[in-house]
Amino acid sequence: MDAAAATPLEAKSPYEMRVHLGDEVGETDVRSALKTGDMGFLHSFTTGSAVDGPGIRLVAWTTACMFRCQFCHNPDTWTLSNGIPVTLAKAVSEIQRYAPGLKRMNGGFTLSGGEPLMQDRFAVRLFEAAHAMGVHTAIETNGFLGDRLSDGELARIDLVLLDMKAFRLEQHKRVAGIANEPVIAFAQRLAALRRPMWLRYVLVPGLTDIPEEMEQLAGFAAGLGVVERVEILPFHQLGKYKWEKLGLDYHLETTEPPSHEAIESAIEVFKAQGLNAY
Ligand code: SF4
Repeated sequence: MDAAAATPLEAKSPYEMRVHLGDEVGETDVRSALKTGDMGFLHSFTTGSAVDGPGIRLVAWTTACMFRCQFCHNPDTWTLSNGIPVTLAKAVSEIQRYAPGLKRMNGGFTLSGGEPLMQDRFAVRLFEAAHAMGVHTAIETNGFLGDRLSDGELARIDLVLLDMKAFRLEQHKRVAGIANEPVIAFAQRLAALRRPMWLRYVLVPGLTDIPEEMEQLAGFAAGLGVVERVEILPFHQLGKYKWEKLGLDYHLETTEPPSHEAIESAIEVFKAQGLNAY
């Protein structure tokens, strides 16, 4: 989903695998699958992740996203058709396979992307299945489509990892190419429902390292009263080759990762509001 948390284009470790269930899926099948959640489109599964929620996680990476973050390091997940069609039954069987180990390691199942709520029915049914197995569930989301989930559906997601790209409207449009009112509304709704949340913020020199922006975001996050953890994710260039490979216009060509001092001072901004920031 964001700069530090997603998978490479090609599987590079034995812990990554691709599931493949079939050949080309027709347009009508795609539409019906999205409506029912009988099928989803996944970039890959990753096992053994220690950074996508508490404990050791099984992560399913969905395709499709409506944001166009300048720092996205997975632009290959923007389009639904870049994913592999996977039936709900197959995805559930993958969770089942790892369920005993995930529980033993105090971990769980995380759905990330792309933006998982672009396939909200598939997401909901996966979370229902994982919950029924007693597996901890988490979603990493940009929050824009949060209103697609009912309160009851949210109750089956144990943790929301909310990627907030910016706080102020104009800054959000600049960073992600889209407005953020629905994101703010979703965060407020989670707070009203007392649902636990981790907040993630990508620190990009010259783009998101704006003190007033971070101060306002930190104040907002602290006011929610449900943010258990804030993660400052330092920008890096690991996704650059994907932008090039896809022929996309990459604006951060010469941007360096933030310095250690810059990361520390961003963390301090959130700590100053009483938040657990890392
Ligand atoms: S929200 Fe979408 S565009 Fe932004 S970093 Fe995540 S996957 Fe990339």
